[in-house]
Amino acid sequence: RAKEAGRNGVEFFTPGMDSVGGERLSLEYALRGALDRDELVLHYQPLMSADGRLVGAEALVRWQHPELGLLLPGRFIAIAEESGLILSLGKRVLHAVCAQLAAWRAAGLPLVPVAVNISALQFRRADFVDSIAAALHRHDIPAGLLTLELTESMVMRDVEQVARQLAELKALGVSIAIDDFGTGYSSLAYLKRFPLDKLKIDQSFVREINAGPEDRAIVASIVGLGHNLGLELVAEGVETESMASTLRQLGCDALQGWCYGHAEPADIFAARLEPAA
Ligand code: C2E
Ligand code: MG
Ligand code: MG
Ligand code: MG
Repeated sequence: RAKEAGRNGVEFFTPGMDSVGGERLSLEYALRGALDRDELVLHYQPLMSADGRLVGAEALVRWQHPELGLLLPGRFIAIAEESGLILSLGKRVLHAVCAQLAAWRAAGLPLVPVAVNISALQFRRADFVDSIAAALHRHDIPAGLLTLELTESMVMRDVEQVARQLAELKALGVSIAIDDFGTGYSSLAYLKRFPLDKLKIDQSFVREINAGPEDRAIVASIVGLGHNLGLELVAEGVETESMASTLRQLGCDALQGWCYGHAEPADIFAARLEPAA
């Protein structure tokens, strides 16, 4: 929804600019500076298997703002997308993740795959696959350690082009996940055509999973559909053990949420990688 509003982003240049427009413009200016000064940091959130092992992480960007403190993506991703800054932000994130994996490897830590959120603008670039390959190559990271999180709306347009691009990514060896699954315009026909690996069930179905039968029915159906297509099912937004328990019963393969850990700075997350002595 933020993205829709963003289409009208040019409005902030009209005369009589309101305060919201002014704030956006200054935020865009500040974000540009933040990229120059390298104020963006990545936090890593653990991804657990149903039986409680660490099986991965999601890299989530934050902005260490000199005055406002640590800003979450909700405050700046939409502006990054409207302004096109998301392209350089996305490139930074990709390289930072590969560099982090290389650093953990150099420290002798066992690695887990890391998921990176990709924006629509990034994904539609003709050089997208090459940029992924270059980042992996530059840091000598096996492609299997990288998962790309796309959204339904990104893969539901230009289907032929998307199918080709996904096939190239697949050949490279990276994993593909559909993020926030169930909230977009989901044409099930495309699910069978694309070489996907995972569906991440949107938090909105997880939030009230124990409050009534409806969300349970929806999650059970998504899990059944995904498994029949050979996909791995991840539930996100898992806040409590009782939610985790229901999601495990419904067949989710992996769980992510505050129940297991918030997104945390790389050095703190690294402690989770230490082999149990
Ligand atoms: P997402 O990819 O769906 O990420 C999950 C969001 O849920 C994260 O919010 C995470 O901190 C939050 N979360 C995790 N566990 C729980 C839980 O148990 N309960 C609740 N209520 N929330 C939980 P965050 O970090 O604020 O990121 C928001 C969105 O910003 C992400 O949603 C993603 O779409 C976008 N984003 C984050 N990093 C990047 C990035 O590097 N590039 C791009 N293009 N987008 C990003
Ligand atoms: Mg995500
Ligand atoms: Mg999500
Ligand atoms: Mg999202």
